[in-house]
Amino acid sequence: MKRTTSTTTDLKLINRNKVYQYIYENDKVSKQDIVLALGLSLPTINQNITELFDMGLLRYAGTFESSGGRKPKKISIKSDARMVIGVEITAEYINILAIDLRGNTRPGECLSISFEASDDYGKTLAAGIQNYIRAKAIKPEIILGIGISIPGVLCEEKRNILNAPTLKVKQVAIDVLTKYIPYETFIENDANASAFAELHSRKDFKSLAFLSVCEGVGGALIYNGVSYTGMNNRGAEFGHMTVVNGGKQCACGNYGCLEAYISTSVLEYGKDRRINVFFEKLKEEDALCRAVWEEYLTYLCLGINNIRTIFDCEVILGGTLAKYIGDYFEDIKRRLAGIAVFEKNADYLHLSNYTSNASAIGTALHFVDKYIKMV
Ligand SMILES: [Zn+2]
Repeated sequence: MKRTTSTTTDLKLINRNKVYQYIYENDKVSKQDIVLALGLSLPTINQNITELFDMGLLRYAGTFESSGGRKPKKISIKSDARMVIGVEITAEYINILAIDLRGNTRPGECLSISFEASDDYGKTLAAGIQNYIRAKAIKPEIILGIGISIPGVLCEEKRNILNAPTLKVKQVAIDVLTKYIPYETFIENDANASAFAELHSRKDFKSLAFLSVCEGVGGALIYNGVSYTGMNNRGAEFGHMTVVNGGKQCACGNYGCLEAYISTSVLEYGKDRRINVFFEKLKEEDALCRAVWEEYLTYLCLGINNIRTIFDCEVILGGTLAKYIGDYFEDIKRRLAGIAVFEKNADYLHLSNYTSNASAIGTALHFVDKYIKMV
């Protein structure tokens, strides 16, 4: 008897979730659309819709044209019924933003705080998040959790940062960073998080390689919608593949890594080390910048071409670099076509949809994905 009750409850929850997911994926739909798509009876659909409205998760969004009779109402999800906070940790700053269930962002806040693996930093991080939540008047009870991206390799259980060259730390317990945060947290490598955001924004992509070019150079692989992180959770670390035998020293300590040649620090200009100034000078045909850029592009294309040759999938170029290279993107594709073994164009290369915040959004989307599947 008990078993039957639990099965009925399970079935009710499954049906409710099917209805919610259908509305989430198809946006504005009528009751009739849901009946036809899910093959459930109209009373069952009615009951689930009422329940979802009572939970504050749905809204009406106008009406459809009628083919006679009353105009059917458009039903949509209430995207701000739940929110997630995304946090990007870097060596020099903490970037905090909020996203809703559709991945729409609220204006973020950037705190100039240098990273250190200390209790004080953990307290500062938690205070920064709490202040942001208060400043944006987000009700704590609708917050699903806090997603945090880290520029480093995490252990499989995500309890430790194993190695984060740009943060200059190894073997740090995640708890040091999260123990003062009064919400559920989810930690992700920054490139994996960015790749996830990218996948979310490109519904037609199932598999992709993501090359993240910031001060550190990272990467991520998604195969059939699932991250491939390797046997030790450090797969797709494209920045540390050797491109020059015994070449320039990399932040990881090795020599000749791709990161040593295409880190955005290569493009910092003047004593203020500003990348935007480098690109301004490049536009003005400054000879020194031109020479640096030529060498930079050689190695950037070499790295991208290696990734494409190995994985034969769509490649997304993202990270800080993505903000600056729109004008040079076709040139990069031409150069890639010139060095490719198997193909005559580089239409597989795409510039990231995000010029900023990708990793914070991606790690926050983890909570959205989880939530959508359990409503
Ligand atoms: Zn390296």
